[in-house]
Amino acid sequence: MSEKKVVKSICHFCGCGCRMDFHVQDNKILKVLGDKTDYMSDGMPCVKGLVIHEIYDKNRYTKPLIRTNKKGIQGKFKEATWDQALKLVHKNIKDLSHQEILFIGSGKIPNEDNYVYEKFARIIYEANCVDACCTRLCHESTVRAMKDVYGNPNLTQVANIEKADCFFIVGSNPAINYPVFFNKLLRRKKHIKLIGVASVMSETLKQCDLPIIIEPGTDLVLLNGIMNALIDLGAFDENSKQLEGFDILEKIVHDFKKDYVCKTCKIKPADFDKVVDEIANSKYFIGSHGMGYTQHVNGVENVRSLLNLINLKGGEIMNLRGEVNVQGVGDMACIPEKLPTGLMESGPELEKLWNAPAPQNIGKNLMEAMLISPVKALIFSNFHPSHSMPNLDKVDKMLKETFIVGFESHKHSTYEKFADVILPTPTLTERNGTITNGERRVRKVNQVVKPMGDAMPEWKVFQHLAKLFKKEKYFPWKNEKEILQEIKKVVKEYRMIDPDKLWKGEDDWPDKEMKHKRFVAERWRGVDDIRTEQFPFILNVYRSKWQFLTAEQTSQSPTLMKYEPKDQFYMNAADCKKLKIKEGQKIKVISEAGQVTAPVKINPDVPAGLITTTFHSDKLRINVLFPTRFDRLTFTPNYKTLAVKVEPL
Ligand code: SF4
Repeated sequence: MSEKKVVKSICHFCGCGCRMDFHVQDNKILKVLGDKTDYMSDGMPCVKGLVIHEIYDKNRYTKPLIRTNKKGIQGKFKEATWDQALKLVHKNIKDLSHQEILFIGSGKIPNEDNYVYEKFARIIYEANCVDACCTRLCHESTVRAMKDVYGNPNLTQVANIEKADCFFIVGSNPAINYPVFFNKLLRRKKHIKLIGVASVMSETLKQCDLPIIIEPGTDLVLLNGIMNALIDLGAFDENSKQLEGFDILEKIVHDFKKDYVCKTCKIKPADFDKVVDEIANSKYFIGSHGMGYTQHVNGVENVRSLLNLINLKGGEIMNLRGEVNVQGVGDMACIPEKLPTGLMESGPELEKLWNAPAPQNIGKNLMEAMLISPVKALIFSNFHPSHSMPNLDKVDKMLKETFIVGFESHKHSTYEKFADVILPTPTLTERNGTITNGERRVRKVNQVVKPMGDAMPEWKVFQHLAKLFKKEKYFPWKNEKEILQEIKKVVKEYRMIDPDKLWKGEDDWPDKEMKHKRFVAERWRGVDDIRTEQFPFILNVYRSKWQFLTAEQTSQSPTLMKYEPKDQFYMNAADCKKLKIKEGQKIKVISEAGQVTAPVKINPDVPAGLITTTFHSDKLRINVLFPTRFDRLTFTPNYKTLAVKVEPL
């Protein structure tokens, strides 16, 4: 038996990216404890991080697998060597054009793996046929709005919570989704007025001084109304008048009078006045949002409207991110619209650095490649599209007809039903490299235990695959640090990072500088969906405290599963009575795209006309209900506001 040791590394899950102490013996994680020196968690990570030892080695892929039965049903696979699996991949993708294939990076894997992912796609196909699941599905609206308003996708500085006197949270439930960040806020509660805006009472709103429940999808109306009131009162930062776009903003928000706002958002005028009052009196205002704000057809407009309010108050933004490395995967240019060196115009610079032709063509994004003009092959990492995409019936049909190569650590139904080749990868605690958390703080990931079975990180797999394409000279590294050294040269925003400092265990920062500051005023284009006679309820989907995203890892934890409620919908008592539904009775929820069934639990927190549920369950598959509707600028889908019909069974 070997000596017990403690290895510091990063949690697998959310964008807080907590560093924790992993207690290890004989290549097994015995327990996980908080790291007292960790700034993000203050030594108190949340329960999801603390149970990693229960889940990291459960339900794993440990050998390359090749499908032997028909696609679309639970898989039969045969074990293969890496050589056999990669030869099959090469045979199936070597003759495709960049319009016929998409590589999809992941916010669950380190920067170094994502960098090699995009480099492989760009070198082999000479095109930007690369995207990332969490960027596209969750945060691209944030990134786009931040670039429009500030010229930098991430200006979050969590430390500034210490200075705030008013904290405004809209479309986010940080008490559940970014718990250590929310704990920092709560520790300052005596000094901060917390204002929370959401369409359903949440754990976050319950802790707010001013919890405001609004009609789903009307956030922008409320924000424009608040700005109009602040301008009327003269309660805004005088300097903001000098910013580009102030005059247009003033004109546009002028139409958002209190009566109109309160009627549209369904809030009491007295509550509106209280919110305006608190913001008007604030000296250090911070605004924050989450995916409840971005996953709409007007996600970019929503974020820009919050940034407008922040600019008007001379305040600042804290937009956290969903997955541990969602900021990093975007920074590494796993996105079709740009290059790792920057905009498409930076092609000649990339050509010099890579000594290879720079991509000339923008590839398809994830939504296009899966739902609009399907490609012939998808190569993705740690992605569960048969659960996390919208319009799941259509997605499943696409997956059935497409050559699918999946890199994955934990088993789940997308791979079992649709993958042609499964390539086993290590979990984050079995890797080396770096992640960039929601604050754009780069942190070192240390290998806590060795990868299970034959699992191999993506960067090494692409090195092998590159040999089959006779392009191995572009993929020369011996380890993750060498890749980071290349990242430092190629990715402009990472030129100032210091790999040696990171390898010593210290955090470092890429570019956090504001390039410009302007208003981008937003008109309201209406909600994602409206109630009709046929679909008289609005469905609202949110996250559970006990699960993380598609739950392939967290569902393996006995501790988390003990607390996770069973699959159910939540409605209020009056709506249930009207529809003659008893608590516990099964209902059918129907939308224009599909239908799902589950029992109902009565919950007084759910307003009339709403029905809610969580989205983690692989059995419920709530996204069956969401049609293909997305933000017109970023293609981030609407996952939040949908008109549905409810029928008792
Ligand atoms: S899930 Fe998020 S808050 Fe919880 S320990 Fe992991 S990184 Fe920290």
